[in-house]
Amino acid sequence: MEVFKTPEMPFKPKRIIDYHTHLGDIFHENQNISFKRPGFVADPPGFTGFDPFKDLEESGYTRPLIVDDVEAQNKLIDAGQVRIWQRANIFTTQAIMDAAGIDYMGSLPILPNTSFEEALAASKLDPRFIPFTCPDFDLPEDEMMAKLKQDIKNGAKGLKIHPIIQNVSITDKRCEKPIELFGDLGMSITYHCGVNDYYKADSPHHAKTNLEYGALHYTLDLLDKYPDYVWVPAHGGGSCGGELEALAELVAKKGCKNVYIESSHRGVDGMHQMLELFGEDRIMFATDWPFDTCTWSVKYAAEAFKDDPVVADKFFYRNAARILGMTL
Ligand SMILES: [Zn+2]
Repeated sequence: MEVFKTPEMPFKPKRIIDYHTHLGDIFHENQNISFKRPGFVADPPGFTGFDPFKDLEESGYTRPLIVDDVEAQNKLIDAGQVRIWQRANIFTTQAIMDAAGIDYMGSLPILPNTSFEEALAASKLDPRFIPFTCPDFDLPEDEMMAKLKQDIKNGAKGLKIHPIIQNVSITDKRCEKPIELFGDLGMSITYHCGVNDYYKADSPHHAKTNLEYGALHYTLDLLDKYPDYVWVPAHGGGSCGGELEALAELVAKKGCKNVYIESSHRGVDGMHQMLELFGEDRIMFATDWPFDTCTWSVKYAAEAFKDDPVVADKFFYRNAARILGMTL
């Protein structure tokens, strides 16, 4: 199993919530990995061994994750799948929490590939996992809604929707009732943002996804319709570059007070930009684990906020704790 070193940091954050992480194989290859030590899974066809995520995290996230180049995208897709297979199990995830000093992780399922039940089981084994749920669009609407209500009773702390992998626009009619259920309860709703492919063009799953569903204009429609809900557009609106600024403009124009931004795939400059654009009460630490290695991200965040312990605690803990209904 991978061994993670605790990074050298300017200070040790006193408590950390990682708002956005994954357990299990969120992709359609759907390996049964959540509760097993990482074992042998053959590399995806054509995998060269090059991991752009590693390159990016070691360089401090000084450039966007998603680039407009098919070859580079394919390498990222392969490396992402391998990261999931090697790391998105409970054991490796516990090891990274130990090394990075993470107290809690929001565990975000993506049906039909990973489920609330997996996140819930993980939370029973280790209370550091905070289970989110996800609508099961394969069910008739009344059953889907009954299931989500039961999930809340069973401990779901927020809603996750992945428009690309679930192949449903976040503004689709089918998302309305789940959004209204969580929104009316004041619980946070997070959904993937960012135009990026999860499958190479030759994958049988490619046709089942629509990457345009990650575009920022859907957020515009959402905020129009539900300006007061607690929203967390994932990855600060996207990972191509420029989305954070566009999102900030949109949120300011609508006057929305409950749009929170998380820091996955961002380094020191990106985190400073989050603070500048969204303010100290709306920014949260996140890694999209297993895609970002949490040790690197904690180190960059500690560097970004080392001069202001109050802002650091809000970013690392308080803001996420508030919207997850945890102790402040
Ligand atoms: Zn994610």
